[in-house]
Amino acid sequence: RRLVEVNAASAELASGEALLFFRDVTSELELSRMKTRFLANAAHEMRAPMGSIRGFAELLLVRDYPREQAREMLDTVHRQAIRLNTLLGDLLELSKLEAQGPAAMPLGPVSIGEVANRAMKLMRLPGDKRVLTQTSDDELLQVHGHGARLEQVLINLLSNAVKYSPAGGDVALVIDSTSDAVPAGWCAVRVRDSGLGISPEHVNQLFTHFFRADPQGPIVGTGLGLVIVKELVERMGGRIDVSSELGVGSTFTVWLRRDGTTAEPPALAAA
Ligand code: ADP
Repeated sequence: RRLVEVNAASAELASGEALLFFRDVTSELELSRMKTRFLANAAHEMRAPMGSIRGFAELLLVRDYPREQAREMLDTVHRQAIRLNTLLGDLLELSKLEAQGPAAMPLGPVSIGEVANRAMKLMRLPGDKRVLTQTSDDELLQVHGHGARLEQVLINLLSNAVKYSPAGGDVALVIDSTSDAVPAGWCAVRVRDSGLGISPEHVNQLFTHFFRADPQGPIVGTGLGLVIVKELVERMGGRIDVSSELGVGSTFTVWLRRDGTTAEPPALAAA
């Protein structure tokens, strides 16, 4: 069903006939609905941490609690404030991305190996038992993109891989430009984990605002990280897809153009 705006007032002809102007406003209306829904979701996501901060602060103001109990309440207030802060950070990031034109993210040749090195370095924490590996079949490979933003993409995917592998397990970053799976002119950067995995009915929702497979679960998040990742990758002319098995693990693949190529993008499984 399409929505049409009709305008007749401006065009009375001398012959007594009238001209009707039709304008298809379906997509404008859909966009405005999407924005309203997005705002409603954002407000809803902020409500829970706000409510908890306010509630505990009020309790602490009106009564004296034993030290240990007060500490626990303050700890919750602190964690919820951090959650709000992360959510606001992600929201700001998204709106900035939307407001900025292509000039804000100049694209050019980027050494993907170096970007991956930097991202991996940030992920390796002292005492962490997880095995993080990185392999590349072409150390000198240059892709078309933006270095700092590409690093942000990989950090986001790597932190998800670690975050959604609660029992530890391996996380691998693989740069593949020569295997049969990679079409000419392209390069695949895969971030693979052996964590929780994602069920088939959730896979298609991963890149929608605020989607979280287990919103009540112990792992905190905003459901915006992958939206930002997808937006950034697509701005670089790349693609992202995912394959996953519940209880086995997930692989997120960032497809990037090799520097200087005009090849068509690869056909993707899900994105
Ligand atoms: P967040 O992690 O803040 O919730 P994301 O947009 O990064 O937001 O991810 C959205 C959802 O996708 C997560 O809540 C989680 O359910 C699922 N997800 C993302 N990455 C993984 C992964 N590596 N393994 C399992 N589930 C994942």
